Amino acid sequence: MILDPSSGQWFIAHDGQRWWFDSGSVAFDFAYTGGFPGPADWEHWHKPEDLATWWRERFEADVPVSASNYGRARELRHAIAESVFAVSQNHRVPEEAVSLINEWAARPDVPPQLCKEPPVTSDRLLATIARAAVSALRQSERVRVCRAGDCAVMYLDTSRSGNRAWCSMQRCGNRHKIRALRARGDTSRVRTDSEHPPRQEISS
Ligand SMILES: [Zn+2]
Repeated sequence: MILDPSSGQWFIAHDGQRWWFDSGSVAFDFAYTGGFPGPADWEHWHKPEDLATWWRERFEADVPVSASNYGRARELRHAIAESVFAVSQNHRVPEEAVSLINEWAARPDVPPQLCKEPPVTSDRLLATIARAAVSALRQSERVRVCRAGDCAVMYLDTSRSGNRAWCSMQRCGNRHKIRALRARGDTSRVRTDSEHPPRQEISS
């Protein structure tokens, strides 16, 4: 069991490009399993087992997920997604979302334990997620939207300098670089990064 997993997950764009997105918070990753409004294929969870798989992949926690555990997780996910959106837009966070997140954050989470496995359930993991959400959302000035005009991806800027501009340097950052070079007529330096996942040429 991992008590404090690092953030980040693979996304597949509509052009088929697979890209790594580090949202900066495991709570934002949780919301990005399908909590934000968007195309149907943004939804990664279709049944309780999908949440069980997420707990296993993120926390190395093997926990049973009942239909009611799953329902509660979806409610919390929706509240976190709404809050991330609101904070990133400098809007007020809807009261219902605030109450639900605070309520979960006050419940028992997964406590660190020495020389034995901590007690873990799906609901305890939800409390852990809610606490991570509170901690991230309280840094409101660091909750941002990718600077690319055609990208709405939100993240918590955890960089030391606090000037992260892109959802991903390999995606929007690189597109921006290419556009800037083209605008200067300097195409000799336009290249695609080979050290990163295969990417397709993106027209600007
Ligand atoms: Zn972006």
